[in-house]
Formats: sequence, structure tokens, C-alpha cells
Amino acid sequence: MKLEINKEYCIRCGLCEDLYPDLFKRNYEEHCIDVLYDEIPAELEERAKQAAEDCAVAMIKVIR
Ligand code: SF4
Repeated sequence: MKLEINKEYCIRCGLCEDLYPDLFKRNYEEHCIDVLYDEIPAELEERAKQAAEDCAVAMIKVIR
């Protein structure tokens, strides 16, 4: 399972990093949010799905 952020429409609110610092980190150089894992570890999959639901503008996509 992977997470992908649509960088064009992400509003950089930082909610994902605030709630899920184990999955996301703000990238100050590129003014975007990075997903910390290419492949989400099994133990974080439920949190990753929740993060996708919590994104204010639904720009975090779960890819199977
Ligand atoms: S919660 Fe969504 S809109 Fe906000 S920074 Fe994260 S990916 Fe971007």
C-alpha cells in the first residue's frame, strides 16, 4: 500500500503532519508535504487510511 499526495491541490494546511507525524513531514525546501514511506508498513496501514479520510481537501490517495 502506498500514499500519494496530489501536490497541485494540497493546501499545505499541515493537518496530516500534525495528526500523523509518523507518516508525513513538511518539506520546507519544496513547499510540499512528503510521505515518509514509499511502501506503508503494515502496522501503519490503518492510520494511513484514516489520514486519507482526514485530509481537508481529500488530496491524500491510497494506492493498493
Ligand atoms: S491534510 Fe491534505 S491538504 Fe493538508 S497538508 Fe496534508 S495533504 Fe495537504
